[in-house]
Amino acid sequence: MRGNSFRLVLTIGVALTADHCPAQQHGRGQAPDRHAEGLAIRIRLSGEEVFSRETIRLAEDTTAAILQAAGVHTSWVVCGAGSPLPVSDPCRPPTDPADLQFEFVTRPGTGLDLLSLAYAIPANHSAAIVYPLVKTSAVKFETSEGIVLGVVMAHEVGHLMGIARHAITGIMEGTLGRKQYLLASRGALLFTSAEARRIRGRLTTLGKPTR
Ligand SMILES: [Zn+2]
Repeated sequence: MRGNSFRLVLTIGVALTADHCPAQQHGRGQAPDRHAEGLAIRIRLSGEEVFSRETIRLAEDTTAAILQAAGVHTSWVVCGAGSPLPVSDPCRPPTDPADLQFEFVTRPGTGLDLLSLAYAIPANHSAAIVYPLVKTSAVKFETSEGIVLGVVMAHEVGHLMGIARHAITGIMEGTLGRKQYLLASRGALLFTSAEARRIRGRLTTLGKPTR
């Protein structure tokens, strides 16, 4: 490993299957309403059972707090793994750029760095998170899996909201290590003000009538 951190990678145009997301949905699953509640996104998690409920909850809270600081409300749908979906299932593949899907995978996609923690697929409004590296990072950097996962998800939301480049500070740094997770555990690893403006601008644009 180079340095002391795992990497985050943005890929464009890589197709991943994101259609295996059934059954277990816990509330909070209404489509994002950017008019009634301000700017909002919804995130569906697929295959999240590789983590404990407590880890998922901490990760959700961590991601949501980072986005809230940027002026964006987050809601969640936990989809689980498994069988074919009914057409009406809210876990069906995304159709809205504010309606994101994260799935958990065992290894980076073909051609990606083996140390890639996650990768965003903007064309699909989705991201894949390499969950063994989340667990490894938590041990290596003496933090919790929920903090690592929450940071990674917020970072990938940034990419999916149009932030293509990594920054030298904050949640969009390209590598994550002990320092970043410590900041995150204190609520101090955030989007820069420029990044937050960009995300709000993207969602505001999405909220306008399309014709
Ligand atoms: Zn990245």
